[in-house]
Amino acid sequence: MDGSRQRRVVVAGAGIPGLSLALALKQAHGPALAVTVCDPGLASGTARHRGRAYAVAAGGRRMFERLGIWDGVSAAAEPIRDMAVSDSRLTDPVRPVFLTFAQDAKAGEPFAHMVEAEPLVAALLAACAAAGVALDPVGITAADPVGETIDLVRTDGTSLSASLLVAADGARSRLREAAGIGWVGWSYPQSGIVATVGHEHPHGGRAYEHFLPSGPFAILPLVDGGALGHRSSIVWTERTADVAALLGGGPDETLAEIERRFGHGLGRLVLEAGPSAHPLAFGLARRFRAERLALLGDAAHVIHPIAGQGLNLGLAGAASLAEAVTDALRLGLDPGAPDVLRAYERDRRFETLAMGAMTDGLNRLFSTDALPVRLARDLGLGLVDRLPGLKRLFIGQASALRGDGPRLLRGQDL
Ligand SMILES: Cc1cc2nc3c(=O)[nH]c(=O)nc-3n(C[C@H](O)[C@H](O)[C@H](O)COP(=O)(O)OP(=O)(O)OC[C@H]3O[C@@H](n4cnc5c(N)ncnc54)[C@H](O)[C@@H]3O)c2cc1C
Repeated sequence: MDGSRQRRVVVAGAGIPGLSLALALKQAHGPALAVTVCDPGLASGTARHRGRAYAVAAGGRRMFERLGIWDGVSAAAEPIRDMAVSDSRLTDPVRPVFLTFAQDAKAGEPFAHMVEAEPLVAALLAACAAAGVALDPVGITAADPVGETIDLVRTDGTSLSASLLVAADGARSRLREAAGIGWVGWSYPQSGIVATVGHEHPHGGRAYEHFLPSGPFAILPLVDGGALGHRSSIVWTERTADVAALLGGGPDETLAEIERRFGHGLGRLVLEAGPSAHPLAFGLARRFRAERLALLGDAAHVIHPIAGQGLNLGLAGAASLAEAVTDALRLGLDPGAPDVLRAYERDRRFETLAMGAMTDGLNRLFSTDALPVRLARDLGLGLVDRLPGLKRLFIGQASALRGDGPRLLRGQDL
């Protein structure tokens, strides 16, 4: 292809990783690169993200700062300053705290923020539109690589061609399947119940993770507001078989179940949003690329939310792919060439596998009530709390701050 011709990258999927990648590429290359995001969900605006919030690690926050959207989001982002971990049964009268993280990623920089999804997606969409990303409310149904382009068919019957297709179309990615990329994975017999809870007393920026026999119950601090002045997001893991009974009794019964797990430390509780239940699974694509196609976000990997790292992996993928494509374009090279996609896969594969294995192992270790396992893990948590170096390692990993990580995650320009 003639190097002066405008190239195009199409991102299928307007989730947070897909929009972040599109914005990064368009900001870096301006008119030299056409960037199109296709997603039928764009037709319904941001409403589907209402009531969801994510723990965004320091690396993701630095990337949002670099992309110029953090100022617009920070009013909906609560820093997590401290995390307390306890391991007990539901019936235990007290829950001793075994492990605390009261450390910043770097001096004065919280290791994560709880960010509400709707304002974050709204800020990404506005910045994409302002930068000149085409936002197209249709899906991609077929992709056919032919020479230096990939020909795409949209759900409205129109076609489009690009140098690179990024499949950011979620865990059940049809584009991944159509490209013949295998998937290794399993379902957990658990669901993640998500809700926003209002409470009487301030949380002080502290997150809690109670390891209960059916799975972790996380309380994550949100920006103040709501009926009682203070709010937290909960991610409550339960056996899927028990979810209907736990949530089926109406809001008062649901709140009573939440109170049994939440405890009374933050005073009176009200339900502000939710609950919604999400079946949990682990999955990893056998490859992160095919001819002129790269997988991004949950299309490439799905992990247990025990450590709140699924989206963070997707953001790290967006930063890495943006870098590989940018490095190629700056040299006048083809952004969809095998070398470019290989560099992306090489950068992401090991870290993704390591994080997936860690979250799977943690979930297996903690979602059990067997006494020897409980004793061993409590000893393990106590040890970690006493070893500042090991704790720093956890925090470094949780905040996605790798010394040699993608430039955007380190707060640098692409
Ligand atoms: C209970 C729970 C709690 C979690 N908490 C956290 C947390 O605190 N921190 C964290 O980092 N992660 C967390 N995660 C993980 C996080 O939710 C996901 O990793 C993230 O939302 C994945 O984003 P995505 O854009 O890849 O996929 P999705 O959000 O599934 O988006 C895929 C998009 O693709 C679109 N699409 C589908 N098919 C097509 C097509 N053919 N063409 C075009 N578009 C298409 C869809 O409409 C959709 O908009 C949690 C997950 C769960 C289940």
